This record gives sequence, structure tokens and C-alpha cells, in this order.
Amino acid sequence: MNPAPQTVDAAAQVPAKVNLLGLSRQQMEDFFLQQGEKKFRAQQVMKWIHHTGTTDFAAMTNIGKALREKLQSIAEVRPPEIVRQQDSSDGTRKWAIKVTGGGLVEAVLIPVGDRATLCVSSQVGCSLDCSFCSTGKQGFQRDLTAAEIIGQVWLAIKSYDAFKSDNTRVVTNVVMMGMGEPLLNFDNVVTAMDLMMDDLAYGISKRRVTLSTSGVVPALDKLAKVSEVSLAVSLHAPNDELRNELVPINRKYPIAVLLESCRRYMAAQTDRSRVVTIEYTLIAGVNDHPDQARELALLLRDVPCKINLIPFNPFDQSGYHRPSGNAVSRFWQVLVDAGYIVTVRTTRGDDIDAACGQLVGQVVDRTRRSERHKAASNSQIISVG
Ligand code: SAH
Ligand code: SF4
Repeated sequence: MNPAPQTVDAAAQVPAKVNLLGLSRQQMEDFFLQQGEKKFRAQQVMKWIHHTGTTDFAAMTNIGKALREKLQSIAEVRPPEIVRQQDSSDGTRKWAIKVTGGGLVEAVLIPVGDRATLCVSSQVGCSLDCSFCSTGKQGFQRDLTAAEIIGQVWLAIKSYDAFKSDNTRVVTNVVMMGMGEPLLNFDNVVTAMDLMMDDLAYGISKRRVTLSTSGVVPALDKLAKVSEVSLAVSLHAPNDELRNELVPINRKYPIAVLLESCRRYMAAQTDRSRVVTIEYTLIAGVNDHPDQARELALLLRDVPCKINLIPFNPFDQSGYHRPSGNAVSRFWQVLVDAGYIVTVRTTRGDDIDAACGQLVGQVVDRTRRSERHKAASNSQIISVG
């Protein structure tokens, strides 16, 4: 990939500084070569940024003074700006992040046992307008840059002051399941995921970096050629009629076409034992009937997959409800009896609205909204498998 293009600050008519935080290893090497410097500088600077959390070139002591001063004038290491950090009583931590040009995105860190999963956003809003998703309700504003995406990992580690100790323990897994459709911001998401997996940055294994998509088929086929991250697909319905309603992009890429693309993605992996995660948000009275579970079991019989059921997370004016624990169990049982590995996602960070589909980047008037949310939300949470 080419190095990030240099933009021009219109007011000052000077080239804007390159934000080195978002450059992949290749891009960083190209950057130093373009400056007439040696390639190995890329390694040194990447370690400073991603291993020690350093943003100040003056502190990069294994780099000569002249080069440090040059970097100061043409480049920067600029993490995203946090406007608010919230801690849930269950250990979940959520950040609202301000992006340049206005707008907010959210990232959530969910610790469970010895794992800690960071849920990362890829866009401000989303254009795909799934009927049950609060991010979709705000429409699309813009793509995040690679620096803004990887910056969410950087700031999570920074917030625990863990660059000094062992950054690999603060974030063990990343899921691209925050705001936005990652495959519609392809290049920046791939660059950021490459950094997540790069030993010079965060060194997370490809199995522990998961991209979730609602089914942008051509981009998924393209991803198979450049990446080996784990794949999650948001299905939510066992037939096209219902999926057209819940996930409008299904009208363009129907279920059969999407599942064929999933099979191609899995077949392209060097490790053939990997499977796709099928995400299925259970909405009361809409897609949670046992007959729909049977239809789903039949639909997926040729797909190497496991199934993750997500009880719907309510938000204001969604018009939908979370199913009862019994309804979730019944749906789960049908799939288990059909031989599938099925997990049910527990709701975490409920007291800070940190659950899937609730990320909206809203910071004003949160108190009243969150009170209403608590009253409306079904408090029964089950965990299976
Ligand atoms: N755009 C991508 C990734 C972000 S959404 C995608 O759609 O896959 C991450 C997951 O949360 C998706 O499976 C999505 O369908 C689900 N989701 C969205 N709104 C939800 C809600 N209100 N309750 C439960 N899950 C929701
Ligand atoms: Fe976009 Fe995913 Fe929400 Fe659909 S579920 S609107 S694709 S963020």
C-alpha cells in the first residue's frame, strides 16, 4: 500500500503533518525512504509509538537529533482525543472519542477472565441502516482514518498506563464491532488491522482480530486476498424476506451470495480448521421463533461456522424488544440439537450503554437517556456456552 497522502492545510498553505500513528510497517518504511533515511528507522519509530506509547519525537533517544528535529517539522504522532471515559461496575470501560471535523465515535474494552476484548469503531455513523441498530439511525458521517482506528487500541492501553508494563495483556482481542461497517472503509481498516497483528505494533494473533460485516460481498472477497483475520457475519435472519427488512444491504447481496462469499473466505485461509462466526441478534417476535431456528439450522448446514446469539440491546425508539431468557434458550436449544456450537452473548457494561448496537457517540443529555434505557431494558441476562 502507498504511504498516506499528504494533505495541505488550506489556511496556511503548508503540507499538513503526516500522522505516523496510522502508518503500516510498509507505509512507514516508504515514508523514511522518501525522506532519504534508512528503512530501519521505521522499526525504531514504530516501537516508540506502539510499544512505549511515545508521541514526542524528542523522547525517541535512539534517533539522532537532526532526524528528530526533521520529524518534528514534517510529522506527528497524534492519537484521537478522548472526550469522556466511563467505567462500568463490571470492569467494562468505554471511551467517547472526538474526531476531527466534528462527530464522536465510541470504543469499548470488555475484560472477561484473562482476556480483554476491545470493540473498535471504523466509521462515524453507518450508511447501511439496519433496522435494529442505533449507529445506523444516525446515518453516515465519515470514514475513520487508520490513525483513528489503531488509535483506539493505543488509547485503551494508555488509559491503563500499560505501555510501561505489558501492553499485550490490556488488549488481548480486537473485534471490529463498534460503529460503522468496516468493509466500507476498506483500506484504513486493513491498515489498522495489519498494525494490530504486527509485532512492531501490537502483535495480536490473526485469530484474535475479528472483522464483523453485515455482508458487503465484493469487499469481503477482496479481504480474502489481503488478510487472514477472523470473520464474523451479521446474518440475523434465516431467509431473504426477513433479512431484506432487518439488514437492507441484503437486497443487494442476498443470503446465498453472502454465504458463498463466506465459504470462499474460509477456503482462502491457510488454516482450514477456522470457521466463520454467524451473528444473530434475537429480537422478540421478529426472528426468535423456534421455527426460525430450524430454518437457520438448515440454511447453515454447509457453512463451516459457529453461531453467536445476541439478545437485542434496546435503545430509545427502536420499536423492538429483547426476547425473554426462555425464548433465547429455546432458540439456542434447537441449534445445539442440530449440532452447532452456539454461544449467547452476555450484556456487559449495561450501566454505561456499552453493548453492541448501542454505540452512538452521543455525550449530551446522557443521564435521562440512560435512565429511560434502564427502565426499558429487560434485566434478565443469560450466558450459555
Ligand atoms: N457493521 C458491522 C459491525 C458493527 S455492528 C456489522 O453489522 O456486522 C456489530 C454487531 O452488533 C452486529 O452483529 C450488529 O448486527 C449488532 N447489533 C447492532 N445493533 C444491535 C442491537 N441493538 N442489539 C444487539 N446487537 C446489535
Ligand atoms: Fe451499520 Fe452494522 Fe449497524 Fe448495520 S448493524 S447499521 S452495518 S453498524
